[in-house]
Amino acid sequence: MSFNVENLNEQKKQELLKTVSGGRRPHAVLVDGGSEKEREEIAYLLAKIYVCEEATDSSPCNMCSSCRKSDEKIHPDIIRVTKDPDKKYYRKNEDVRPIVEDAYQTPNESKVRVIIIPEMQLMKVESQNVLLKILEEPPTYTAFILTAESANNVIGTVLSRVSRFRIGENDNDLVFKEKTLEIVKNISEALSSNYEFDIISATAPLDGNKQRIVEVLTALSVFFRDALAIKNGSKSLIADLEPQAERVANSFPVSTLLNFYESTNDLLKLTQGNPNYNLLVAQLCVNLRNK
Ligand SMILES: [Zn+2]
Repeated sequence: MSFNVENLNEQKKQELLKTVSGGRRPHAVLVDGGSEKEREEIAYLLAKIYVCEEATDSSPCNMCSSCRKSDEKIHPDIIRVTKDPDKKYYRKNEDVRPIVEDAYQTPNESKVRVIIIPEMQLMKVESQNVLLKILEEPPTYTAFILTAESANNVIGTVLSRVSRFRIGENDNDLVFKEKTLEIVKNISEALSSNYEFDIISATAPLDGNKQRIVEVLTALSVFFRDALAIKNGSKSLIADLEPQAERVANSFPVSTLLNFYESTNDLLKLTQGNPNYNLLVAQLCVNLRNK
């Protein structure tokens, strides 16, 4: 069974090809929306492009032995993770830790080994955090393709590590509260200001509100990821903040954007423990002043 790209409309087709085109393929892709069957087929198509010996920028050659093996689902470098079918969710130790260990195995015959992790809505936050470790620093020869019913099923830190291909239309978009978007927008504007006070006043509504801080850090992490993606010619994940992400992308060099992104992710990780939230917001202000 091989996926028929013709099933996608022209715009979606271009988007799909763009996901894996360009000089450097992303080391992790999230396929979300559509039906489970569509997600599975697109995941396999992307994997086929990754392992094809003669792939052009955006499509598999369909002739080489890698492509044949991909179509027959017998390619040794395309691994599809399975969870225990008797369990509703991926188990952290039995299902997810082995993925992390497995990621260090070198490819058998292709340049890349592709690990497909299906249906992330079945992986709880705690397990996704285990997976995050390998997504942060994957071996250069390993690529991941994740699928999910919706991008909202994926935690922010994981989301900020992936390129995204959304099968459906806007109905499945990332959802952040209006208040969260407003705070991120204000922070993005304060970034360009020379007054320290502007960052402090943009983050003032966070004021020890734990849930809001976590959501804003998540959105901010994805926002900086978006700014980096825009610099690389890709699209935003948060459509509502695309103009802001574009402006930030144009205002700062990649190194500064990376600093913003990494330091925000570091703070986001701290929220999984039991941090002092006032200190955390103070640190966020310091990080964002540090250009
Ligand atoms: Zn091929």
